Amino acid sequence: MFVGYGLTQNNPKRDDFAGLNLTGKVVVVVNGAPAGTDSARREQLEAQGAISDRIGQILPHRPAAIIVLLTGKGTELFEQSAPQLERAVALRTNAPEVPESERVIPMIMLGVPVVGSPLLPTGWPTDDKPQVLTGRKFTAHVEQVKTPITGYNVAAVVRGSDPSLRNTYVAYGAHYDHVGILNAVGGDSIANGADDDGSGSMSLLAIARVMQQAPVKPRRSVLFVWHIGEEKGLLGSSWFTDHPTVPIDSIVAQLNADMIGRNADTLLYVVGPLAAPNNQSKRLGAILDSVNAAFPTPFRLNREWDSATHPEHIYERSDHFNYARKGIPIVFVTTGLHDDYHKVSDEARKIDFAKLARVTRLMTEMGRAVANSPKRPR
Ligand SMILES: [Zn+2]
Repeated sequence: MFVGYGLTQNNPKRDDFAGLNLTGKVVVVVNGAPAGTDSARREQLEAQGAISDRIGQILPHRPAAIIVLLTGKGTELFEQSAPQLERAVALRTNAPEVPESERVIPMIMLGVPVVGSPLLPTGWPTDDKPQVLTGRKFTAHVEQVKTPITGYNVAAVVRGSDPSLRNTYVAYGAHYDHVGILNAVGGDSIANGADDDGSGSMSLLAIARVMQQAPVKPRRSVLFVWHIGEEKGLLGSSWFTDHPTVPIDSIVAQLNADMIGRNADTLLYVVGPLAAPNNQSKRLGAILDSVNAAFPTPFRLNREWDSATHPEHIYERSDHFNYARKGIPIVFVTTGLHDDYHKVSDEARKIDFAKLARVTRLMTEMGRAVANSPKRPR
């Protein structure tokens, strides 16, 4: 079944699901826009987020499989993610494996449309109407090889100076993995991840050194965790928060630094104080505001992404999220996305080191403020 662009009745011009029975069928949908769509709408329909919207529309019809063909900006995503998708990594679990026949989510495949492909109408792209692709049968055989691998979080503690508070912790987090090897661009296939998250990882090293060497240590202890597997689905932080090296309720706050070395020198995004449930991170947000305001040149704190319902779901996209799930107040700081995000061009020479140092100073003072306060930031 070809369902065109998967446009629903919310769309003024066409409803691509009208009159089609998708149950038990292989459904092909194009992540893109019909000819003549204006550029702003086209951008929405080709976006990464549109893929899950389309899958979400199709799933309730209980298809056998879904094939999403990416166009426009999505083509870039396909080229970047295809090598990754072939090497999925998941946390080891003791749960029994679900047999193929009981899978809730059907097989989902990504591809790019090619004129003449049996997955498309014969007259594609002129003919983009939803239709039964008569006489075509799609069979897939997926071979899975499971290889156990071990990844390591790296943790360190600066022991607090106050005997009544030193068994509690202010936690700092960053991730030291990146996306590995991508398709080569200009002969370079190594994704260095200088900003994502070399910047945060180095920042934590600097904070740890400053705190360890200070003549007076913070009153609470300070925990540093460099997480592994963030890019594979926050795996390291998921493991750490389920198997913490200190009692989980002794962590009074977690400060996460992910991508903190780019963009305009005054811009810093704050995520968590508004997005985290039950206002559990609100107080931490207020502390950040006052610590920031005390600097001679404070950052312009941007809270655009600090929402649990923002379409980019930034709040769910880095390691702080797993700490927040345990009820720990969190603040996630980032200098934001850029054109080199998850590309081989995320290189060290593009880091604004002066800015990275300023973010690091802000995080240092923020951690000190929480570590020296006898009151938990709730
Ligand atoms: Zn990252």
